[in-house]
Amino acid sequence: MSSTLPPCPQCQSEFVYADDSLLICPECVHEWPADAAAAEPEEAPVVTKDAVGNVLQDGDSVTVIKDLKIKGSSQVVKVGTKVRNIKLIGGDHDIDCRIDGIGSMQLKSEYVKKA
Ligand SMILES: [Zn+2]
Repeated sequence: MSSTLPPCPQCQSEFVYADDSLLICPECVHEWPADAAAAEPEEAPVVTKDAVGNVLQDGDSVTVIKDLKIKGSSQVVKVGTKVRNIKLIGGDHDIDCRIDGIGSMQLKSEYVKKA
């Protein structure tokens, strides 16, 4: 809990305390909603976007827009490779998918475009 509560709007007392969603002034017994102070910032939903800003969703098909070397192998996912049925997993490589001829791998959403 933050200790920086606003002063009482009625008497400017600094000894305001919070009780649930109310702020209470012990000096003049004024009570008011603590909306501004207590409101938790709403957690922004995680939105995964492709290289051009389209919002991606589980099950989407995307096209790879850049040759991507596969770590630990000599294989490359070529530009234009179609990837079906992606799964968004968050994180650095935020797309989980299966590519024909390569198998399961993870891609970065910035290197794909919604098909
Ligand atoms: Zn007061």
